[in-house]
Amino acid sequence: MINYNEYLKRKDEGELPDGLVRFRHSISWPINPETTNFHIGQYFTRDHDGIDIQVLDGTKVYSSARTRLIGIDVDPRDMVMTNFALLDEKTSAVYALGHLSRRNMSEKIPLKDYFFDLKSDIIFDEGEFVAEVIGWADENEFGITKEIKKAFGKSYHHLHFGVQFCEKEEEIEKAWRNNRNLFNPLLILKEIMQ
Ligand SMILES: [Zn+2]
Repeated sequence: MINYNEYLKRKDEGELPDGLVRFRHSISWPINPETTNFHIGQYFTRDHDGIDIQVLDGTKVYSSARTRLIGIDVDPRDMVMTNFALLDEKTSAVYALGHLSRRNMSEKIPLKDYFFDLKSDIIFDEGEFVAEVIGWADENEFGITKEIKKAFGKSYHHLHFGVQFCEKEEEIEKAWRNNRNLFNPLLILKEIMQ
């Protein structure tokens, strides 16, 4: 991982919601940090509500825990780029997976432009394939640092990974649709050792 020192600075930044304190640094990464080209292009900041895991186009994304697929939202710009919401059955956190491909996703997932169902019966085991990172069409570089560009060239394809937590179940859909109740995902993801 090329920007490891930056990761060390960021991994404990911010606070976990009270309901998640006991799950600090406990969930699996949706993309194995040892994957070719893996680097964190953007961290959680006031202007960016998740982390961007930049990887090669087509990299597979996996469920971080045993989860229930509760949301699907296809980007109207191209009707292919898709966001998913996975509810972790143990922690009750919602993992928001952004910029995945509806052309390359698990067969379990229905082909719907929008879907939200807290009681859906689509379950993923920890480590089970969900969908692939989509090839980003335009030339935006999403805050790629000089260091990363030098090592990998342009590499803007990424998983946007957000984590949300709501005290009440009935607040989840609104929070997901409006990007609320998000915190630094590095606080709950397992620590990367090097
Ligand atoms: Zn992002």
